[in-house]
Formats: sequence, structure tokens, C-alpha cells
Amino acid sequence: MFLISLLTLSCGKREMPEKKVLNKNKLIVVASIAPYHDFAKQIGKDRIEAYLIIPSGESPHTFNPRPSQQKLIAKADLLIINGLGLEYWLDKMVDAAENKNLVVLKAAEGFPIITDLHHNHEHLNETTHEEKENKHKHDMGNPHLWLNPVYAISIVDKIKDTLKEADPVNGSFYSSNAEAYKLKLKELDKEIREKAKKWQTKDFITFHPSFEYFAREYGLNQVAVIEEIPGKEPTPRELKEIIDKVKKTKAKAIFAEPQFPAAIVKSIADETGIRVATLNPLPENYLEGMKENLRQLEKALGE
Ligand SMILES: [Zn+2]
Repeated sequence: MFLISLLTLSCGKREMPEKKVLNKNKLIVVASIAPYHDFAKQIGKDRIEAYLIIPSGESPHTFNPRPSQQKLIAKADLLIINGLGLEYWLDKMVDAAENKNLVVLKAAEGFPIITDLHHNHEHLNETTHEEKENKHKHDMGNPHLWLNPVYAISIVDKIKDTLKEADPVNGSFYSSNAEAYKLKLKELDKEIREKAKKWQTKDFITFHPSFEYFAREYGLNQVAVIEEIPGKEPTPRELKEIIDKVKKTKAKAIFAEPQFPAAIVKSIADETGIRVATLNPLPENYLEGMKENLRQLEKALGE
């Protein structure tokens, strides 16, 4: 009898959810993409536990979530996502995690959304189910708001407010960290604005429509994209159309992205003689990553 109750006790102990123990000390914050993970860390520093869902080098458009990430969501306090269909694979995970206390912050909510994404998608009539889902997700508008530093400043405020609500004891800590970080973002914005003004060419081509908000903020033109539906490689005929389009534009540079294969970009560059550079839409360190993106743009458009 004694043995049985001891066994039950130890089993019970092992099944105790980790959550309660961890939550006593720090908020568990999970972010879908690297820039939001960075923002959370800049504001929460060592008073939160920050986790990232999409690892470096992978794209949210083609991402396959891991079972371990569902467990992470099950014990999280706050989940920061972009919304606008970027994390089209996430709803199932959140439902399955059955975390009633989870607060979900949709960072892209409340901004003016660019919706004129697809002008030449007639071929989508004969597509697979998966591609139809992709099209659906694009119908919600262009999701890449974080790449406009002016929006990033507002997003930092949103994350700060949400952290303060969840953990009022550390409220002033979160506020002062957010203010310090926002100053750096404002300097970044100023630097991009001043440099972009002087560039001779304003036209550029990207791999997918990632830098549209950035371009509009700083008077640049993303004149064409290679994959309007990210993850769907162009057919040989579509590739020829892109090459013709590139030849007609005044664009000086075509930008590859680290999350997608570089082969298509290279073949377009070989055909057209256009300069190739790299833009990273998902920098792990937002400030450094955006400064590197600025250097790449300046090298391509500023000369
Ligand atoms: Zn994207």
C-alpha cells in the first residue's frame, strides 16, 4: 500500500507542468520571426525568456513547424506574431497547445496595409490546393511591415505595452528599455532617409515582395519581384517574362534573400547583366541587419 502511494506520488511529480515553476520568475515570450524576437529581447532583456519559432535561414512562407514548438507555445505567456497570413501554419499549433492563458499579439495589426500585390496571377486557376492557400494568404495584403523602421518603432511600443500588462512589476524596466531602443530605431530611420535621398537610381528588384513598405517609406521603387508567391518557383516561361521585365526596367540591382535559393537570381543576372546583391528580410539583430541591408542598397543604387 505504501509502495503504491509512493509510486503515484513520484509519477505525479514528473507530470507536473514546467510552466508554473518557470512563470514564477520570468515571462515566457515566443516570437514567430527573428525581428520580433529581437524587439522582445531589447525590451525584456534578462527579465523575460525569449524564444524564436522560425530559425535563421528559413522563411515563414515555406516553414514547417516542429512538434517541440507546440510544447513551447503550451507553456508560453506571450506569443508575438505578425499576422496578415504570414504565419498561416500557426493557428493549428496554437489550438493544439490548449494554452488558455496565452496572450497573442499581432504586430502588424492597425497599420495601413499594401494590398496591390498580384497583378498577373491569371495562371492561378490551374493550381494545386497548396498554391491556392498561398494565394489566399496574399489576399490579406503584404505582411512585411517590420521592414519599415517607422512601423518597427510602433511595434516596439506595442510589445512594450503588452509586456507591461502581463508583468506590471517590471513595467518601468520595460518602458525605459523600449525608449532607449526606439532612439536607435529613429537614428536608423534618419540614416536611411538621408542616404536614400541621394541615390541616383530608385528602382530595384527583389526576390519576393518583402521590401515594399521600406521602399514606399523612403521613396524607392520595388519595380519587380521574382516570386510573387514565395516558395513557388517560376516556370521557364515565367522566368523569360521576368527577364524581359528586368530588361525593360531601369533597375540597377536585383536582390537575393538568404532564405531562398540563389540560383534563379543568378540566372536572371546572367541573362541581363544586372548587379546582384543580398537583402535579408529577417535579421536576427534588427539594427545591425537593417544597416547591412542599407549598405547593400547603397552599393547597388548609390553609385
Ligand atoms: Zn516574406
